[in-house]
Amino acid sequence: MTNYRFARRPDAGGKIRVSFEFFPPKTDEMAGKLWETVERLVPLKPDFVSVTYGAGGSTRERTSQTVRRILRETDLTPAAHLTCVDADREEVDAVISEFAAMGVKRFVALRGDPVEGAGAAYMPHPNGYTNGAELVGALARHGDFDISVSAYPEKHPESPDFATDIEMLKRKVDNGATRAITQFFFDNDVYERYVERVRRAGIYVPIVPGILPIHSFTQMVRFAGRCGTHVPAWLAERFEGLEADPVTHQLVAAAVAAEQVLDLVERGVNDFHFYTMNRADLSFAICHLIGIRPVERTQARRAAA
Ligand code: FAD
Repeated sequence: MTNYRFARRPDAGGKIRVSFEFFPPKTDEMAGKLWETVERLVPLKPDFVSVTYGAGGSTRERTSQTVRRILRETDLTPAAHLTCVDADREEVDAVISEFAAMGVKRFVALRGDPVEGAGAAYMPHPNGYTNGAELVGALARHGDFDISVSAYPEKHPESPDFATDIEMLKRKVDNGATRAITQFFFDNDVYERYVERVRRAGIYVPIVPGILPIHSFTQMVRFAGRCGTHVPAWLAERFEGLEADPVTHQLVAAAVAAEQVLDLVERGVNDFHFYTMNRADLSFAICHLIGIRPVERTQARRAAA
């Protein structure tokens, strides 16, 4: 019996595109680890790599340093995340100008979480941009940028219903966003139903699945609770008893993520965004399975054929 899902190499036609998300490192040691990760992933020629943005001056400075280093030392295309949190419009506009002067052409525009953390009530800055849609508008007025925004297949925890949630996505697209990247999810049917809803609302930009390789199941569950991501019982069952067994945990995590991504490929999805958590191993392995290989190796194989 042939399992066709695993028998063929999905990216044989070169249609699949991937992007990787990093967070700015807090210490020199973390910076070293991030850089090892970047170097490992560079040969996969991602469409772009994105760097998250946090609240507070020093975190913001680290985002800018990381983006600058990517521009200086690699041929990758960076996308700078930007939020509206705790800043007035002038401050946000200054950050946009700073990134633009550096040569940044891509942004991921977000409202952001309350300074007290996800779950607290969000209070916009009195003179700030109040949500993702307003920030997209500011970016589009500033220059000809490629602007990604967030999307929530299980709706954002603050949204009273899907209609309100999708209305916000529509406003972001109407203001100039050209791609939405989803919150991580594990049930591909949920993603598919969400994309149908979005299309019915007249939104036609790519809805790129955000894939979270599970480096720690326990931590992921905590994070999922804050984000409103459902953790199915079958997933918990797969990781049962593995917290003290990192090797098996890692192998199961690779298998689970590969299964999810290969199933999405079967459903016609061609773009994937990986939340790498600044680690290359799982993202690299999953890319390998979908046929995204280091470019030098692919070229050598073609030359030998
Ligand atoms: P918006 O798109 O503005 O709003 C999200 C939803 O919340 C909307 O659908 C809307 O219906 C609802 N909503 C918003 N305001 C209200 C309101 N007042 N009343 C009722 N409903 C409301 N966070 C960071 O801090 N830094 C990052 O770099 C970062 N990167 C991310 C990247 C991706 C791909 C994703 C999916 C999330 C990221 N986040 C990041 C998390 C994000 O900031 C949070 O999810 C935040 O709570 C919402 O930001 P947003 O841009 O999605 O908000």
